[in-house]
Amino acid sequence: MKKLQNYAHGQWVEGTGDGKTLYNSITGEPIAAATSEGLDFGEMMDYGRRVGGPALRKMTFHERGLMLKALAMHLMKKKKDFYKLSWATGATKPDSWFDIDGGFGNLFANASLRRQFPNESYYVDGEMHNFSQSGQFVGHHIMVPKEGVAIHINAFNFPVWGMLEKCAVNWFAGVPAIVKPATLTSYLTEAVVREIIDSKILPEGALQLIAGSARGIIDHVESQDIVTFTGSASTGKMLKSNPRLVEEAVPFNMEADSLNASVLGEDAAPGTPEFDIFVKEVRKEMTVKAGQKCTAIRRAIVPEKYVDDVRKALTEQLQKTTVGDPNIDGTRMGALAGQEQRTEVREKVNQLLAEQELAYGSLETAELNGADYEKGAFLSPILMVNSDPFNKKACHDVEAFGPVATILPYKNNDEAIELTRMGKGSLVTSIATADDKTARDFTLGTAAYNGRIMILNRDCAKESTGHGAPLPLLVHGGPGRAGGGEEMGGKRGVFHYMQRTAIQGSPTTLTEVTNQYQYGAKHKDPGKHVFQKHFEELEVGETVFTHKHTVTETDITNFANVSGDNFYAHMDKTSLDGTIFEDRVAHGYFILSKAAGLFVDPKKGPVLLNYGIDNCRFTKPVYPGMTIGVRFTVQEKIENDKLGDENVAKGIVKFMVDIYDDEDETVGLATILTMVKKLDQSAAEEAAKEAENEE
Ligand code: NDP
Repeated sequence: MKKLQNYAHGQWVEGTGDGKTLYNSITGEPIAAATSEGLDFGEMMDYGRRVGGPALRKMTFHERGLMLKALAMHLMKKKKDFYKLSWATGATKPDSWFDIDGGFGNLFANASLRRQFPNESYYVDGEMHNFSQSGQFVGHHIMVPKEGVAIHINAFNFPVWGMLEKCAVNWFAGVPAIVKPATLTSYLTEAVVREIIDSKILPEGALQLIAGSARGIIDHVESQDIVTFTGSASTGKMLKSNPRLVEEAVPFNMEADSLNASVLGEDAAPGTPEFDIFVKEVRKEMTVKAGQKCTAIRRAIVPEKYVDDVRKALTEQLQKTTVGDPNIDGTRMGALAGQEQRTEVREKVNQLLAEQELAYGSLETAELNGADYEKGAFLSPILMVNSDPFNKKACHDVEAFGPVATILPYKNNDEAIELTRMGKGSLVTSIATADDKTARDFTLGTAAYNGRIMILNRDCAKESTGHGAPLPLLVHGGPGRAGGGEEMGGKRGVFHYMQRTAIQGSPTTLTEVTNQYQYGAKHKDPGKHVFQKHFEELEVGETVFTHKHTVTETDITNFANVSGDNFYAHMDKTSLDGTIFEDRVAHGYFILSKAAGLFVDPKKGPVLLNYGIDNCRFTKPVYPGMTIGVRFTVQEKIENDKLGDENVAKGIVKFMVDIYDDEDETVGLATILTMVKKLDQSAAEEAAKEAENEE
């Protein structure tokens, strides 16, 4: 039989021994054997740290983002092959879409994060803090990639997404990964890894694969490593208690099975759009991936008075869910990932049935579309009703990882909140309600017990991404029972793989370290006006000192006329009693506009446009008779690969506008955002040629 291979220290390696036989969950036929015997996990981790880490750290965020994008585009082209294999895991086409396209989508989403990071290998976090009277001793934070390796131990239900949602983040941060998929479905992960390695898009050492058991891997972790785990709470807790993690202070991000809930609001009576939305969502979560989703709804919390209506509506929906071979038309739900899983789910359902009533389904049989119940790992959807969920508590504790859910009745919103919290920590809870007050009370009452809360009503349901879909830019992970971890989450996710370090020194030194101009640092002479320099020619710290302007009462009156802003403090000298102002004060926006008049170089040059202002502050009143000038400094340069409709290669430059008075004190401080043309227009020329060829 075909043996899956492991990818270790730059080579495909076949494990020794017979390995574990993996079966097609639709037909029951053997597919391959998986073994990692003979692999040296310590050596693999060392290789990741020695080879993959340095190569990724040499790249900037921008380069890593483009690498993810290229990888996503490459994998998209091979999608068909992966869908074929995914079928053997029991997945329907929509299930495979979640896993495969969802995984590639994650790469794309993380690639786009490059626009929020500097074109450096490190990130500058937050604001500068001044700790001194003269402003010459300041502090800031930088974040650098950890110099270890990310070990991802994954569950069987998402062999592609499970790997990519995690790797996208650690690669973007500059950290290599060793992926250990659950053995059961590792043949699909192996196929994707093979394609990734063959593409040569990642630097060598950025990805290694263990297609088989990884028992003992935690014993090799070192202080710069990170471990993530997705799977059962029992395995997670066992791994997390490994003393090596404590000794080396290695973060262990755990995402375990949780008893997620969906609540039907008290207002959502049968016949309302919210009632229908709720029923649809519960049905979907029970049957997508045959309910083998960490986010699936296990507890449907319903107003007592509507229990019978929900039971009837869900039963009707579930009857329409044709179970069987996903390759045969009409099938809406496939099989569980394996026979072992089916045995486990049956055991769990029997535990639940000890105190709740079966409302729909059977553990013994199912009407199947073109498949054999005994050979495959099929199970019919199982719906139960618990009459007393405050006292019959197994529903808050036992997770049957399949197409299984229980209806729990409640009397009022406070009870719905209490029942939700009895899950002791979930990845996600949703509520269907058109009453925003209910939504607010429910959200604030349950947020501490959830990683994500989705509120559905008639306004948002059509465009909703769904209860079960974690999004790359939002937190995925939950407290307590859900493992206490946090994956993804846009920038926040990336930071899990980075070390935040406080840096202290003079603003000039910190400008050099961060490559972002820090207020109070020495200025550099640009040689000519900065608006006459291209993106590549500009250097952080280059400053234009402008002419000066003495503010007059006429300026204030004229600006009031132009803007229509006749606020008393600008216009009426007799109204200033009890205010901080001593005289008619110039409008802050006048000061900023005048500053623009002073710092702009009017001749046509490489600056294409000014598209906004960040962090604008007016720090000291300006009265008639005071003189202002501007120190106009290149604060930060941000790489940009978008050519736009006008097909011009350009970068983003942030300029610090420091407006000061006769006493050399800052009266206004702002950051303006500009787009500046590059000297190198080769990307634009190439794009123009391509467009011409297409024509
Ligand atoms: P497990 O917890 O058994 O396994 C999860 C991962 O841990 C697998 O890759 C497994 O590898 C690995 N593993 C197990 N023991 C060790 C060890 N000693 N050292 C290193 N790695 C280890 O979960 P399953 O995937 O088997 O699923 C079982 C249950 O977990 C489900 O029935 C469900 O309740 C829950 N689950 C929760 C998910 C979630 O996202 N929250 C997702 C999937 C499952 P191997 O496969 O080789 O044993």
